[in-house]
Amino acid sequence: MNLEKAAELSHAEWREMAAKLKQSAETRLFIGGQFVDAIDGGTFDNICPVDGSVINKCAAGKKADIDKAVEIAKRSFKSGEWSRMAPRNRMAVMYKWAGLIGENAAELALMDTIDMGKPISDMLKADIPMCINTVEYFAECIDKVTGSVTATEYDVMSTVLREPIGVVGCISPWNYPLLMALWKIVPSLAAGNSTILKPAEQSPLSCYRVAALFVEAGGPPGALQVINGLGEQAGQALARHMDVSKISFTGSTEVGKLIHAYSGESNMKKVSLECGGKGPQVFCEDLEGELLDRAVTTAINGIFFNMGEVCSAGSRLIVHAKIYDEFVAKFIEKGKDAYICGDPLDPAVNLGPLVDHQSQARVLGMIDKAKSEGGRILFGGAAPANGLEKGAYVIPTMITGVKSNDYVAQNEVFGPVVSVIKVESDDEAIEVANNSVYGLQGSVWTDNYRRAMRYVREIECGTFLVNAFEEGDMTQPFGGYKQSGNAKDKCFESLLSYMNTKAAWFRLN
Ligand code: NAD
Repeated sequence: MNLEKAAELSHAEWREMAAKLKQSAETRLFIGGQFVDAIDGGTFDNICPVDGSVINKCAAGKKADIDKAVEIAKRSFKSGEWSRMAPRNRMAVMYKWAGLIGENAAELALMDTIDMGKPISDMLKADIPMCINTVEYFAECIDKVTGSVTATEYDVMSTVLREPIGVVGCISPWNYPLLMALWKIVPSLAAGNSTILKPAEQSPLSCYRVAALFVEAGGPPGALQVINGLGEQAGQALARHMDVSKISFTGSTEVGKLIHAYSGESNMKKVSLECGGKGPQVFCEDLEGELLDRAVTTAINGIFFNMGEVCSAGSRLIVHAKIYDEFVAKFIEKGKDAYICGDPLDPAVNLGPLVDHQSQARVLGMIDKAKSEGGRILFGGAAPANGLEKGAYVIPTMITGVKSNDYVAQNEVFGPVVSVIKVESDDEAIEVANNSVYGLQGSVWTDNYRRAMRYVREIECGTFLVNAFEEGDMTQPFGGYKQSGNAKDKCFESLLSYMNTKAAWFRLN
């Protein structure tokens, strides 16, 4: 069912579809174009964050399954069935794939909602359109890749060629299960690599389905395989494999550091990392009227959308003392009831549970720690009580009186929790914004473009917005400075990062 029809479904219809999908969704490993059990027959429970029930049992891939997939990927790569396919033909497969994702939009959206509790309306409005856009964008890029001829003496021709790398491993997180996986596997495939995805164990369903759709679109079975499993098992085996030439990882900074180490301890494979964030948003003293209102509304969505489970969430609001009281009052007025917890299958609900009960306990623990360090909870700060007790829910939470070095200001909460820090000057705001090991996304709100430009230049992060937040399109490089990572997703540069450059020197005389 496509997006248009899906947008008309009622809560009852989604519930009915979800009940069926839990029975029918494929949970086995996708190897060589077939769904198969793990070699040792191992499985683990896929838990529903809405009520803690078991959704289904997922095959637990391990080293032996990764080895099997890598062998198939190597053979596929060497055969040239995908790696040497004419660019226009590769583009045709990718466009067909994008079309199939559109035709199966409702099912794919439902899979992510079932797995990790994301509101179905967010899947339809945000994730699925962006997934389609990702495949179309990189399809479009395929025959735009060029090499070059360098300046040399007359009797030499020196060319630089771009080639696919070989077998590429991608490891993805659960917060945008399908979209984050596609930001990795699509440019990798567009570049001609044989690609193996290890999705987050909490949310594999849509990744399996999308891989099957790739084969249905005409992609060779050896070009895209999906092996779910625990990170320390399947993920580690992929990242340590001697025949995997690149690992592209999105997830926590902690695991990102391990991935780097695995590369060094194995075959020095290329490593692309997209990791955590602690997004600062600065609100300057000149804000007033409509711009202040828009700043507040955007800040509310910038932290509470997707339950705050967003790497680039604006979790630190750095507010000038001159507008502080007005800003906080408006944030409470507009933000307190803007996101209401409920069943994510209800199209009217905009806040689902966190991904699991461990996350809920961690987030509530961080709120307690903030209180013990002098933070004041202005709203939220707890799990809801209105019949949602079994779910991993946390109510949107605003904490003021936070200091720049407090635990809650330094660590990624990955939940609907915003910290507000008061500052007295631009100098102090910049110092606070940069007082973080992370550097993913930040913003400044001001009516003064000279001031804005200073922030653009001085704040250490990969993406910076002026009078906006969480905007962008596929042309924009997305990735972090500092411990937020070392790579860029989206954008043409991302596609090139899945290719090797080869210098070819022709002696002509
Ligand atoms: P995570 O690091 O726990 O897991 C990410 C992936 O790594 C999962 O597939 C997991 O199974 C795998 N993994 C875990 N341990 C591993 C190991 N030892 N070896 C190999 N693989 C292993 O992260 P998460 O909880 O799934 O996702 C949340 C994190 O992702 C947050 O920190 C968030 O900021 C980050 N994130 C970053 C971006 C970005 O673009 N920068 C985007 C989305 C999420």
